[in-house]
Amino acid sequence: MIESLFSWESLRFGLSLLGCFFHPYTLEESEGLLRREAMDRTKNFLFLCEKEVFAQQRSPYFQLFRNAGFAWDGLRSLLESRGLEAALARLAAAGVYLDIEEFKGKKPVIRGDLCFRLDNSLLDMAQGPSVPLESSGSRGPRMRTPIGLDGLKLQSSFLPYLLRSIGASELPVVLYYPMPSTPGVVHLLAFTLAGKPPAALFSQVPYHRPGRSDVGRRLAFLVAAARLRGLHLPLPRFADLRHPKEMAAWLSQKCSHGACVATFPGSALHLVQAAKDEKISLPRLTFILGGEPVTARKRAALESEGHRVIPWYGTVEQGRISVGCLSPSSSDDMHLLSDRLAVVKRRPNGDGPSRLVEPFLFTSLSPAAHKLFINVENGDSGAVEPRHCGCPWESVGLETHLHSIQSFEKLNMEGMTFDAATLAGLVEEILPAAYGGTPADYQFAEEEDKDGVTRLIVFVSPGVDVEEVELTERVLNALSASKPTITPMAEVIERAGTVVVRREYPRPTSSGKINPLRKER
Ligand SMILES: [Zn+2]
Repeated sequence: MIESLFSWESLRFGLSLLGCFFHPYTLEESEGLLRREAMDRTKNFLFLCEKEVFAQQRSPYFQLFRNAGFAWDGLRSLLESRGLEAALARLAAAGVYLDIEEFKGKKPVIRGDLCFRLDNSLLDMAQGPSVPLESSGSRGPRMRTPIGLDGLKLQSSFLPYLLRSIGASELPVVLYYPMPSTPGVVHLLAFTLAGKPPAALFSQVPYHRPGRSDVGRRLAFLVAAARLRGLHLPLPRFADLRHPKEMAAWLSQKCSHGACVATFPGSALHLVQAAKDEKISLPRLTFILGGEPVTARKRAALESEGHRVIPWYGTVEQGRISVGCLSPSSSDDMHLLSDRLAVVKRRPNGDGPSRLVEPFLFTSLSPAAHKLFINVENGDSGAVEPRHCGCPWESVGLETHLHSIQSFEKLNMEGMTFDAATLAGLVEEILPAAYGGTPADYQFAEEEDKDGVTRLIVFVSPGVDVEEVELTERVLNALSASKPTITPMAEVIERAGTVVVRREYPRPTSSGKINPLRKER
């Protein structure tokens, strides 16, 4: 995916990057930037619109604004009279938004007489040398997003304040992602730009020796160049996702005072389980977790072992969106990084995959954004609310909380539509409670057989003790209960034998995530 990460214009980019490694963000700069940008957000949005929309007639947003009857002066008055969020909601109601299918180019943008198909690259914001990152594919087709040096710095600028706020400034940072992968490489670079180069980088998949692949060579080159100048960056080492005992042993030996481990929630569970199986005593870990929802069960499973959990949420197209509240009201209670993003919710309008929920609409406020978003869906929905929590994020002006975030993707089979939330509920709560194991031991996938029949596969880790017939019945009952009106359809599925239990470990996506519902197309 990032074959070109260090290939494209690699020397110029590499040199710029190296230079920045030696002038990392300080805590004071990090805190100051958050405070200032959180105060100036309306002004920043106006500036972005002036430069990137009203001065760029090719911009898709230019067409949407014009179609909605807004010129530059009208937009300014709207913002002055209503404030940023209310103005964005008004714009969305007037048609200035992109739903997830329009954003991905799966369907044309139609607003009255206006009709066009979005060229997603017109939203790219990177200036100068950039690396084309790809989204993981768990949300649909892959999409390329160039990220430049300013974009990487934006992903780094809040990190010193984050580490200080969670009491981790002095702890070693350890990454556990597939390598090479977008999160693995971006976090390696972002923590280094924040003056906190990771102490170790574990890869969930075997990593080719440097020299055997382009990426390996270029990563090795960057690491060597940094080391020559006295900055120690780690090279990836393999720690098997199913049983990362090497990583547990390393943490136990090298980090007796604790460590800050950034990874996916399922991977954190595997790490803790591997340590238990091998009777390795882990130090107290601060897990920074994203890429899959940080559910109450996952969070409790880690906290009950004495570890801390800080959720964070982001996408490749948007970068970091929110970070965990330190006085949380729920397992994934986070503060919107409102220094760089605004969010409103769109009323369902009866079309597309978002018809049953109120999807998030995100708007970029920073010129260093990877893609320019103005009321754009990212495929997720959840709660958006102001709440006084008294935590360090509120004190720098980040007052909007996001929580209960989930994808509104659906599973369709045998004419039935199951909410991703129903399947997630089975994986997260019902099945582990009934049969043991953790949420990382169960997964659903839809699979098309040679006759074109779609089957709902229930992957169950081999170690879980359960009768297949009983498990199938419980799954069908839960699906039926979630939609009482379609109970007969559940029977059809049962008779057709389209629910299949498979005694295999849940499969991660190519980027290492274990989603409750794996969608393969
Ligand atoms: Zn808070």
